[in-house]
Amino acid sequence: METQAPLPPEYTQAESAELDSRIAAVKNQLGSKLCVLGHHYQRDEVIKFADFTGDSLKLSQLAAGQTDAEFIVFCGVHFMAESADIVSSPNQKVVLPNLHAGCAMAEMADAEDVAAGLEEISELADAQVTPISYVNSTADIKAITARAGGACCTSSNVRNVFEWALAPADKNRPGAGKIFCIPDQHLGRNTAIAMGYGENECCVYDPQLPDGGLTQADVQRATFILWKGHCYVHQLFRPEHVTSVRESHPDIRVIVHPECPREVVELADASGSTAQIITAIEAADPGTEWAVGTESNLVNRLAKRHTDKFICVLNQASAACTQMCRIDRPHLLWALDGIANGQIVNQITVPKETADNARIALQRMIDIKPVTQVTKNG
Ligand code: SF4
Repeated sequence: METQAPLPPEYTQAESAELDSRIAAVKNQLGSKLCVLGHHYQRDEVIKFADFTGDSLKLSQLAAGQTDAEFIVFCGVHFMAESADIVSSPNQKVVLPNLHAGCAMAEMADAEDVAAGLEEISELADAQVTPISYVNSTADIKAITARAGGACCTSSNVRNVFEWALAPADKNRPGAGKIFCIPDQHLGRNTAIAMGYGENECCVYDPQLPDGGLTQADVQRATFILWKGHCYVHQLFRPEHVTSVRESHPDIRVIVHPECPREVVELADASGSTAQIITAIEAADPGTEWAVGTESNLVNRLAKRHTDKFICVLNQASAACTQMCRIDRPHLLWALDGIANGQIVNQITVPKETADNARIALQRMIDIKPVTQVTKNG
């Protein structure tokens, strides 16, 4: 991870009201030259300055569409800023206000390990293996994915991307038999099971072990080879949280993100991406009750926005993404001041060859449409 320079005292010691007014002023000064993007998991005090909010997919598309803005300030994590740089125009500059805002899940998959793993699995499989990289991965991994004929996915369109990868061969893509799903094992397993595959048709590739700890029989039996990675935020949700919230609120509906472990998704009423969860709750009747298994900044914001419904975080405790929270107002102001003063800080630039390949994997992801509905259990 790149090192973040310490901020000068004028930022670290500024009062809350001063930060707000200075951020608003510099945004105003930069006008249409600037576009601030904010991920749903971002804290309120930062997201209020975003021109657009969304999940990874929506923000990638928005970044590509902001052709007037010379500067895109990404209030998210590192891989999102990389994706914005890849899909934006060459004259646009993408800035991440804090270089230490990296996604812990994306950092569980190293590009060299992924390339080696793909080779090992392909040899063991004796079949075509298509890599599918969650958008929460580095640009290098997206590039490896594209070169091997695979695609990126988001949690909104992962099922459609898996179906695409497993579809019968066409003239542009030789017969695909297995999916190498990187880096989130839970997203891969939950999606495979939602598609009707058995858990025994999934196996986990551990990059710390020779051949990922898998035998040839393991790989040949599996349709989904899952990288041993996870999101520590979604892994906080446990089956006992589902049981406990149902005891205290018998009519509550439990909806969780597919990055949660299998046993939690199985117990929930429904699962879906961030966008699908938001849509389901917005469409729900007044008076309904929801326990949501995803990042708590988003859930608490939903609760504030929909006061006609009862909405709580599934585990009743903090499930904040601390990586995302590293983008705070002092860092945002520092980054904006840098742009205004012509001394751009923390510009994220993906090398051209990597970007050219990664863009192919991202474009396949954008072309394969997301579904808007949650996956219901039972
Ligand atoms: S919530 Fe998890 S997957 Fe999302 S950015 Fe944070 S660490 Fe990464």
